Amino acid sequence: MKKENICICWLRRDLRLSDHAALYHALKSGTPVLPLFIFDTDILSQLHDPNDARVNFIHKTLQQLADQLAALGSSLLIKHGQPAAIWQELLTSYHIEGVYANHDYEPYARQRDQHIAELLEKENIPYHTYKDQVIFEKKEIIKDDGSPYTVFTPYFRKWQKNLTPFQVKPYPVDKYVDNFYKSTILPFPSLKELGFGPTSIPLPSLNFEDTLNDYEQRRDFPGDDVTSRIGIHLRFGTVSIRHAVGNALEQGAEKWLSELVWREFYMMILWHFPQIVHSCFKPAYDRIRWRNNEAEFEAWCSGNTGYPLVDAGMRQLNATGFMHNRVRMVTASFLTKHLLIDWKWGEAYFAEKLLDYEMASNIGGWQWACGCGNDAAPYFRVFNPELQAKKFDPKNVYVNRWAPAYQQQKHVPPIVEHAFARDRMLKAFKEALNP
Ligand code: FAD
Repeated sequence: MKKENICICWLRRDLRLSDHAALYHALKSGTPVLPLFIFDTDILSQLHDPNDARVNFIHKTLQQLADQLAALGSSLLIKHGQPAAIWQELLTSYHIEGVYANHDYEPYARQRDQHIAELLEKENIPYHTYKDQVIFEKKEIIKDDGSPYTVFTPYFRKWQKNLTPFQVKPYPVDKYVDNFYKSTILPFPSLKELGFGPTSIPLPSLNFEDTLNDYEQRRDFPGDDVTSRIGIHLRFGTVSIRHAVGNALEQGAEKWLSELVWREFYMMILWHFPQIVHSCFKPAYDRIRWRNNEAEFEAWCSGNTGYPLVDAGMRQLNATGFMHNRVRMVTASFLTKHLLIDWKWGEAYFAEKLLDYEMASNIGGWQWACGCGNDAAPYFRVFNPELQAKKFDPKNVYVNRWAPAYQQQKHVPPIVEHAFARDRMLKAFKEALNP
């Protein structure tokens, strides 16, 4: 059978058919475009929850994309396996004129993409890649001396200075939809065939525009629950960053805009300093002698520390895959400072549970809370979880929602006393930093 000439648009964390850099360029090339998604067994095999909500989200989103493509007389090619093996297989099944994909900045993804680029190069197949998931990437926002920023505020100032309407202009994919490869509907694996089951966690819809009004005043109060919940959509690209930033600019939501920029600030940091996956941005902090008590870690994970705000946060995370930002800061500080448990343990637990898990932001957030990160508060500033609760949840709305046992005075006593824990932690940090 004669193989047809096609090009492939490889979708990864950009699961949409509009305002999509790689897809736009692929369709514009004129060669029929077949969109591909690979359920990567290297990633899936590391997930512990057989009903992982993120896999459910991806599966559901792909189903919607497949329906949209079917309405255009095309289809979505879905594969399950290791990317290198899948690409070998594709090379034999199709005559591929070009491959299009968007940049990905995490260490594993960079390695994977490098490998596939080499494989395609051997076959003389052009591999076109584009910036899509951020407004500015890599070295686009750097200091005047050419080095990367490590502090947010000057980075944000430069970011704003460099922003032009062009950067938020959507890619008009719609103009070229006739160029999708015409195909009958290709097989679509069930969750079960991928080794997963349905989640009971509700998956957040995309509905951020209306939340921006109240954001600046109320964002820090977890009981109010006014933040956008756009995280999972940015993570898997069901919304484009240009659309989100464009909305923030239109509505004058500067505070929210700055949060979107924190996201790409951390992505830039991870790209320049991939070693932070395994070690502290400030290397001296790698000398801290963590206590790493497993029973205490378990108490933290399950929301049984005896500190209401910490426990409410962990219970929200376990039940919903979400935790409010203020409470992420308090729980992370509590684990690393009050319990002296390695930030990497907490980072891994959040990575397992968060629907909006983003390696760069999660590592950034954890290292910030621990004091060992690029733009972290000084380590000796220790959050007092009770004062944090008084300030940000004064009527216990959040605590009563997620840890109601406190209301009935039926909860466990504090796992450690605050002043004692603070002194213990200061001693351990000082020892590490002034050996
Ligand atoms: P909103 O407050 O509405 O903000 C909109 C978007 O801006 C977010 O979805 C996110 O993409 C970005 N954003 C907001 N705050 C931050 C921030 N501090 N750093 C980077 N980006 C930000 N965010 C993640 O997206 N993934 C993570 O894995 C993650 N882990 C964290 C771990 C710790 C210890 C801490 C302290 C923070 C972490 N954050 C993480 C940042 C922040 O808590 C979440 O982005 C936010 O709570 C998500 O809720 P939202 O979508 O309603 O955000």
